[in-house]
Amino acid sequence: MKIALRLTLVFSVVVATILFIFAAGIYLSSKQDREDEFYDRLRIKTITKAELFINAKVHPSLIQSIHEENKKIMNEAQVAIHDLSGKLLYHDDIANDMIRETPEIFRDIRKEKEIHGYVGKWQTIMLLYSYEGKSYLITGAAYDFYGYNKIDSMFEKILLFYTISIILIVMSGYLFSRNVLNPVKDIIKKVNTITASSLNSRLAPGKNKDELTQLVVTFNSMLNRIDRSFESQKSFVSNISHELRTPLATIAAELELTMQKDRAPSEYKTALKNVFDDTKQLIRLSSALLDFAKASYDPSEIAFSLQRVDELIIEARSQTMKANPDYRIDIVFENDFDSDEDILLSANAYLLRVAFANLFENGCKYSAQRSCRVSICLDRISIILRFIDQGTGIPAQDLDHIFTPFYRGHNQQMASGTGIGLALTKKIITLHQGDIKVSSQTGKETTFTIKLPNNRA
Ligand code: ADP
Repeated sequence: MKIALRLTLVFSVVVATILFIFAAGIYLSSKQDREDEFYDRLRIKTITKAELFINAKVHPSLIQSIHEENKKIMNEAQVAIHDLSGKLLYHDDIANDMIRETPEIFRDIRKEKEIHGYVGKWQTIMLLYSYEGKSYLITGAAYDFYGYNKIDSMFEKILLFYTISIILIVMSGYLFSRNVLNPVKDIIKKVNTITASSLNSRLAPGKNKDELTQLVVTFNSMLNRIDRSFESQKSFVSNISHELRTPLATIAAELELTMQKDRAPSEYKTALKNVFDDTKQLIRLSSALLDFAKASYDPSEIAFSLQRVDELIIEARSQTMKANPDYRIDIVFENDFDSDEDILLSANAYLLRVAFANLFENGCKYSAQRSCRVSICLDRISIILRFIDQGTGIPAQDLDHIFTPFYRGHNQQMASGTGIGLALTKKIITLHQGDIKVSSQTGKETTFTIKLPNNRA
């Protein structure tokens, strides 16, 4: 069921119920008022007639003829007067007696002094009346013709107005809920037009600062994020293709040139060496990309275990030096540690080794001495690692970009590379809830500072 219809139904049922209680309350209290008022009038009429008969000693036939006349024009009461023993002294119209008095009724009147009741729709009153020391049992009955008429017509009017009100409530409820939901429909329509190729379109927020405007703003900011990541994915893919194409094109050109004529063995050797270098570059790039993809997994899919940071550093060092035997890497402990908790951290050993090896490799390859050092500093909740080299340094204009995938700095001619290393390192450090900062002085030194939470954090 659509929300507009559901809102209309709920709204109509609630308002209709309230209106029903209101109308029923008015009707029932009017009915009660009519009954009370008529008993008051009936009492006065009955006592007045009793006074005419008992006090004023008016002749019964005169009272009876007045009763006969009044019957035609108003709610005339039919009165009967008995003495205490129940003997009938007077009756307005014995032939059409409304109240069949019995000894039990007389007993009840003597006991209660005043009794109200009904005979069909006729209201009855029974009273104990005293005059000059003598008591009488008087009864009166009358039909409230005007009162019932008023109440019945009131009931019809209430029913009519209630029905009209329900129709109006349902109609206005539907219009109201449709009106309220119109902006939501507009949003749905607009959202449906947004596709991967039109990720740059945005929804127009309303003028009011209401929940719908908030929804639109939130949706727009989500689109911004999706758009940005979509764009960076696109440029990432085109960078990968470009980086793969360059060495492949070089290999193809090298082979084509070599095959054009017969060559001396030394020339073949040089050509093969060039092809081998380009292939190594391709392998480096593809493994870096593979690691990048791994580091981009959802953290819940990556296996973490407790690792000693010094062991990971030593392993990364041997890994780097195995591939580059001319590099020199020193490891320095800045302080002692009291417990293993200080040096342990929850990590994916493979990825963290890759990150450290990248920093070692950069430190060595961008310095003429091919050397760098790492210092390990432990505090209560974190492990601080500084990768320092006295190399070429990073030009100031490169500092803001070096963590961007495929970005290579102005000093790139110093060493071969892919531009993936630092982006990958940052991703891995972030995955381990840490952060990485760089400071550098051109021509002097470069320091990458990594802060990782230890097992106590
Ligand atoms: P690359 O494969 O080019 O080394 P990285 O992502 O590892 O790619 O580094 C990005 C850029 O940052 C490098 O091209 C280089 O300009 C600069 N860089 C990184 N580390 C150092 C360093 N230790 N000394 C000087 N420059 C560095």
